Amino acid sequence: SAHVVILGAGHAGGTLAALLRQYGHEGPITLVGDEPIPPYQRPPLSKAWLKGEADAESLALKPLEFYAENRIDFRPSTRAVKLERSARRVHLADGSTLSYDILVIATGARAIALPIPGAELGGVMFLRTAADAEQLKAAVGPGKTLAVVGGGYIGLEVAASGRALGAEVVVLEREERVLARVACQALSDFFTAYHQQHGVKFELGASVVGFEGQGKVSGVRLADGRTLACDAVVVGVGATPNDEIAKDAGLECARGVVVDLEARTSDPAVFAIGDVTHRPMPIYEGRMFRMESVPNALEQAKQAACAITGRAAPAGEVPWQWSDQYDLKLQIAGYAFDVDEIVIRGDPKTAKFAVFHLKGKQLQSVEAINAPPEFMMGKQLIGNRKPVDKIKLADPSISMKEVAA
Ligand code: FAD
Repeated sequence: SAHVVILGAGHAGGTLAALLRQYGHEGPITLVGDEPIPPYQRPPLSKAWLKGEADAESLALKPLEFYAENRIDFRPSTRAVKLERSARRVHLADGSTLSYDILVIATGARAIALPIPGAELGGVMFLRTAADAEQLKAAVGPGKTLAVVGGGYIGLEVAASGRALGAEVVVLEREERVLARVACQALSDFFTAYHQQHGVKFELGASVVGFEGQGKVSGVRLADGRTLACDAVVVGVGATPNDEIAKDAGLECARGVVVDLEARTSDPAVFAIGDVTHRPMPIYEGRMFRMESVPNALEQAKQAACAITGRAAPAGEVPWQWSDQYDLKLQIAGYAFDVDEIVIRGDPKTAKFAVFHLKGKQLQSVEAINAPPEFMMGKQLIGNRKPVDKIKLADPSISMKEVAA
């Protein structure tokens, strides 16, 4: 039976290896990853784990023994460098090669670096891997000032965790509001105020032009000429797909490796899953997405596992993700395409509310803060496209069940 080689032992690759066995794949499975540890969850790295509320072992998707027990040849600290599609083989950094019948590219994404002076100084960090997180945790604490460059989800989560660890935190954001790319104004305002109440300082509309320090960072230089003193920096300005191997091998790539609804690339023997892909979604016909979320990694792992084991493709899902900051649980479903109206349910002052984005009577997206029913029923309405009564939606005394009925 076919030898499946998976490049990248992250959330997508690790999940796929397990699913293949669960779905009855009998042939050899090789899981190649350049990190030293088995597949783990990244979300806690900026949240519970960073704050010291979860241990390293709880991050692993499966214990190390799982791989041998399930005849998965897991190869840690092993980097794939080149794909030779005509010979169906992969070249590894140590000069050896691996032959495959089916290849799955699950190499994820990496943090984007800022091409500015001082970027190489000690204490200028990223947060993508468990190793990055260890370094960050060691650098923050009482009496330290942490500068967070980028007010996206990861940046804000690090800010909240940094406060929990007793550090002073300043968030530097180039746009005029945090979460500018991913959330509406109401949500940006809410998060900024909530962080300020917890002692986080903000510099909005602030362009970082350099880092200063002798060997180790001691300040962040802004375009307006000011320098803000700090002991450590986290750069959280986005991620870029690790798609070089695919590109070099001539696979179709756009904002990532282009795949279909079975997670297949332009080469039928090669699949791609997770953050590295540029993918379609059944509920948004005609559009392509590069998503960076665990639900996306899981959905595509399932698509590939079904295709490889000859099962029917799984039903399309409504995209969603979450973020935890302080005692806030944010859950988001759908995308706010062509929205003509925003309905807010509940009062932001109570830190329990939801923002609904509508196109006519159709719900396109929901952003729910400490409001699981709003998220759950909203996600369902986005998927089934039932028309929504806006008056009911805006009235928290009417249950979400009734709104969605
Ligand atoms: P990854 O998990 O990045 O795995 C890819 C693996 O491939 C990595 O181990 C990489 O080192 C390895 N690799 C790359 N190139 C090679 C190569 N050439 N050879 C061998 N190995 C290679 N998502 C949510 O839904 N909710 C959250 O709250 C959330 N929080 C997050 C917080 C942080 C700090 C981070 C970093 C991410 C967060 N995410 C969150 C995103 C989520 O973790 C990713 O979407 C998910 O990990 C994607 O899985 P993946 O397998 O595609 O990529």
